Amino acid sequence: AFKDMALSLLPHLMTLSLKQLKEDREVMILAATSGDTGKAALEGFKDVEGTCIKVFYPLDGVSAIQQQQMVSQEGKNVKVVGIHGNFDDAQSAVKVAFGDKMLKEVSDQHHVFLSSANSINVGRLIPQIVYYFHSYFELVRNKEIEMGDQVNFCVPSGNFGNCLAGWFAKNMGLPVNKFITASNKNNILTDFFTTGKYDANREFFKTNAPAMDILVSSNLERLVWYMSGKDGDKVKEYMEKLKADGIYEVDDETFAHIQDQFKAGYLNEEEVLKTIKDCYEDNGYVLDTHTACGYGVLKQYQKETGDQTKTILLSTASPYKFPESVYKALFNEELDVYDAIEKLNEKTGVAVPKPLVGIKDREVLHKTHIDKTEIINFIKSEMEGL
Ligand SMILES: *Cc1c(COP(=O)(O)O)cnc(C)c1O
Repeated sequence: AFKDMALSLLPHLMTLSLKQLKEDREVMILAATSGDTGKAALEGFKDVEGTCIKVFYPLDGVSAIQQQQMVSQEGKNVKVVGIHGNFDDAQSAVKVAFGDKMLKEVSDQHHVFLSSANSINVGRLIPQIVYYFHSYFELVRNKEIEMGDQVNFCVPSGNFGNCLAGWFAKNMGLPVNKFITASNKNNILTDFFTTGKYDANREFFKTNAPAMDILVSSNLERLVWYMSGKDGDKVKEYMEKLKADGIYEVDDETFAHIQDQFKAGYLNEEEVLKTIKDCYEDNGYVLDTHTACGYGVLKQYQKETGDQTKTILLSTASPYKFPESVYKALFNEELDVYDAIEKLNEKTGVAVPKPLVGIKDREVLHKTHIDKTEIINFIKSEMEGL
């Protein structure tokens, strides 16, 4: 997934800054994951000196491959915990942990402090900015555009960290016309970008694009802050409303700034499958379920607006992380996860990524399951064990 790149850099940025700050406490990384952050963070932080990492994933909320990748993770300093709850529950518990007084005391006693591998950590967003410049320069190199031409970016989004990194790239000088945000059936971002209302009072769906099954999108708060003219008081008010009532609406001026730069759309699950098939037939390219949301939304957008601007679609994961859905989409047959990998490879010729080869036989090393209400206490006991 795109996170693997950013999270291979973050541990190095972090250890370097700890050294420069002469920080001698251990850092405990907390990560809530809808599937891909977990593996990427585990791989990045495993056996990195002075760090340990705890990953919380929703049992029943990640794909079989994502789960197997995480529970078979090796490394002396890693722990992976399944929670009864969804991704939002895991992410909000992790956010609470950062402000918890009791945890602060315990962490001081045990000479440790907390940090995050989620995109609430700006160390995740910074490396992601590079994707946008890189893809733009690729188009220039291939003579698809000339240096200085504007492009659109279409970004499958959940926590909005990828898309926000693109917006940072724009502010660093990259010529961008529009950002098109794509969602699945959990279409809270689509509604926000079309109405200015963020309404989390809605059903949470488990979909075939689980990394985007999110109702509380962390980085949107950052975007709203910029779009409101960096009005911290106003954004605080919105976030308090969100917490109390599950809903807020930005003022007209802020919304006008947002609409100027951002468009949005979503695909339901059947549309995701149909899009994977259509794209394969048209281009011979195998999309994963998340990237399919982007592909489908981009087609809708181009049809509705007639916008001819060259558009870069960010591919967010390998189709082999969601092989059952992709196989079903292409060949209309339900297969067990590992059969789906094998057959998908056989029939499409797309290579299986190296880290997934032999994954079936890897030993399960992490079997801890807890309730979402036990996360804070779990972190406390982990600190006490240091
Ligand atoms: C994380 C993820 C997304 C969403 O990215 P955000 O930065 O959270 O918006 C989309 N697709 C895949 C495959 C992901 O792993």
